[in-house]
Amino acid sequence: MKGGPYQVCDGTWKLRPLTAKNTARGTRNQVTEPHYPTTEKHCVRCGQLLPAAEFRPNRANTWTGLDSWCRGCRNERTRQWRAENPDYIAAYNASRRRAPVRLVCAECSGRFEGRPNKKYCSRKCKSRNFERRRWARRGA
Ligand SMILES: [Zn+2]
Ligand SMILES: [Zn+2]
Repeated sequence: MKGGPYQVCDGTWKLRPLTAKNTARGTRNQVTEPHYPTTEKHCVRCGQLLPAAEFRPNRANTWTGLDSWCRGCRNERTRQWRAENPDYIAAYNASRRRAPVRLVCAECSGRFEGRPNKKYCSRKCKSRNFERRRWARRGA
């Protein structure tokens, strides 16, 4: 695949190639049922017959709903791609490395540090605020 790996995840960050398709609103979370659910299949790259769990889900593949490469091949290719594209990785990391700023939580007024667009100190506060506004709207 040109333009980058489908997904890189070493537990700390995720990277997807920014194409019009997966940045389009709603497309990313859209769940498409696989056309033909498979229990095992051949990896297109190494040719091994592997159980479906050895393939990452890939909604772009409407036939099986699975990546056409097994996890092993995908990881290998991803490592290779990262080694070949240090500039891209550096630019990506730099864009993520914005210094956290001091903020005040909109729900509990507690102080916290985070990205400038954050409003709540935690997921808990966010959902609490959301619930409160929902009830307020209903009562009005
Ligand atoms: Zn493979
Ligand atoms: Zn809070």
